[in-house]
Amino acid sequence: MNLKDIANRRFGRLVAIRPTDQIRHHTRVWLCHCDCGNACLVPLNDLTNKIVRSCGCLSRESRKEKVKMLRKAREKSLVDGTDVSVLISAPDKRSQTGVRGVCPDRGKYRAYITFQGKRHYLGRYEKPEDAAKARQQAEDRLWGEFFEKHPELKEGKKDIGKKFG
Ligand SMILES: [Zn+2]
Repeated sequence: MNLKDIANRRFGRLVAIRPTDQIRHHTRVWLCHCDCGNACLVPLNDLTNKIVRSCGCLSRESRKEKVKMLRKAREKSLVDGTDVSVLISAPDKRSQTGVRGVCPDRGKYRAYITFQGKRHYLGRYEKPEDAAKARQQAEDRLWGEFFEKHPELKEGKKDIGKKFG
């Protein structure tokens, strides 16, 4: 049993006030004051091991913040139902050819493009360059109109162009 005196010590948002007569997890439970105005009971070990840093308001806030951020990121990357983050991201690291939308297929190279949730096959080619070219043309065709409507997203598109040479 730990009788260590932690009165007035700060642990995150909590300040230990006084020990209670409760024992939890083999350690003394302390009455703490949280910066948000709440009081709570926390076992001493949870305080010193930094397991508990607030009355619960901290994790509530960060959870809320996370949800907000996720929603924002999603709203930002979805324009007209198009996942812009896919359009402007680098080639898939798992891609076997290093070129987005081109994969080896029975000794040849198959080109495809995913646009607004649909996958379009663009044919099979002897050379990866040709498959990449087909993919580039499909990008220009499918995304051209899209970027005309959303010129602010064109910046990211330029980087894709570079990758296809
Ligand atoms: Zn609190």
